Parts: sequence; C-alpha cells; structure tokens
Amino acid sequence: MIDFHCHLDLYSDPRAVVDECKRREIVVLSVTTTPSAWEVTSSLGAGSSRILSALGLHPQLAGERKSEVRLFESLLPRTDFVGEIGLDGSPEFRATWTDQVEVFSRILALCSKGGGKVLSIHSRRASSAVLQHLSNHEKSGIPVLHWFSGSLRDLNLAIELGCWFSVNPVMVDGQRGQDLFSRMPRDRVLTESDGPFARRNELPLMPWDVCSASESIASIWNESTSTVDSILDENLQHLLSQLARSPDNVPV
Ligand code: MN
Repeated sequence: MIDFHCHLDLYSDPRAVVDECKRREIVVLSVTTTPSAWEVTSSLGAGSSRILSALGLHPQLAGERKSEVRLFESLLPRTDFVGEIGLDGSPEFRATWTDQVEVFSRILALCSKGGGKVLSIHSRRASSAVLQHLSNHEKSGIPVLHWFSGSLRDLNLAIELGCWFSVNPVMVDGQRGQDLFSRMPRDRVLTESDGPFARRNELPLMPWDVCSASESIASIWNESTSTVDSILDENLQHLLSQLARSPDNVPV
C-alpha cells in the first residue's frame, strides 16, 4: 500500500499511526506544513525506509509563515521530497495570494537549484496558476498533484507537463473525481490519504484507508485490486528511480 500524501505529524497519536504503518508495510510520504515542523516530523520516519519525509510550507500558511522560507532553504539538502507546497485560490485564502505566490515560486527555484525533487503539490482552486509556475520552473523536479480538482483543460496541461497525481478515497467517491481520474495516465498515479485533514464519515482518513482508493481505481479501470496494487507499486518504483538516491533508501 502507498500513501503518498499524509500528515502523520498531525494525528493525535503520530507514533501509533507510524507503528501501524510499519506493521502493514505501507510506504508513506509524510508531508509537513511548515519548515519548523521538519525536525519532529522527520524523526517519525527515522529508521524506516518506507516512511519518506517531505519538507513543506503549506499555501494556507504562507501568509503567516513566509519568513520560514529561509529555514526551508537550509533544510532542503536533507531530503529529496518536498511537500506540502502549492497555491490555494479559495476565497478564505485570497488575502494571502501574493505571499503564496512568492513562497511557492521561491521554493520551486530552490528545488531547481537543488537538482530536482519529488514535489507533493496542493492546487485547490488554483490549478492554472500552479501549472504556470511549474512550467516556469521545469527543473524543480517531478510534480505530484495531490487531490487534483481542476478543469479538464488543466488536467491535460498537467499531463503534458509531466505531472503525476496522487488520489485519495474521498476524491474518487464522487463522479467528478472519477471522471478526472479516468483521464489520468495509468503510469503516473499513486494513492494518498491526506489524513488527518481528509475525513470520511466524520473520521480522519488513516494511511491504510488508501485500500479504498485502490478499490475505486479497480472499478474505474475495470481491473482487479491486485492488478491495481501492482501497477501502483511499479509506478512508485519508477518515480523513485528517477531520483539520484542511494538504492538502500528505496522502499521495498
Ligand atoms: Mn494535505
């Protein structure tokens, strides 16, 4: 199982969630929302090759935390994974749009300088702007659009730009998410939970709930869940093989 976008540090008992992920051998991309959370969050994954820690600065926090871009810069050499970053064009975050753009483009420039990373990207109500920035920073790495909900036109543009997509169970519950998902390239999709932010039946999604996304994918693709799981595993190996990393860091 693969949970390629999870806020492990935001569960009420992160250690217990990590232990359960280890027991179930789930590969987790553990994203952070601020650079100051990096030390504690990355320590959750210490000693496990399956828990990949990502350095992030969430667009919804860009207004109050933009001064942490300097800390972001100093920590960046320590990881190949960046997230959660991006832009949020929802009305409640419009006031910080200028700060969001400044932080996001600065981070993409730093990633380009750092040789390219895997980037887990938020694009709610901002997919066109996100794609524009990604095309301005082609060397920033491999973008994985998390919970993509943009237009079909932007989806096609994202595919042309080489973006990957991580999809969660809530996204493929609805018709619109299913339509978008059915147009995503099979060799560029991964599953995610976006827990504990993403909720279902009033409960936060857990990393192991990605199995429900696999079931939805199986029905959309008309394949068995075991076929879906092996495609997703191959996708992950392919994604990670594009990073200049030492082989013993690659999860098995
Ligand atoms: Mn998230």
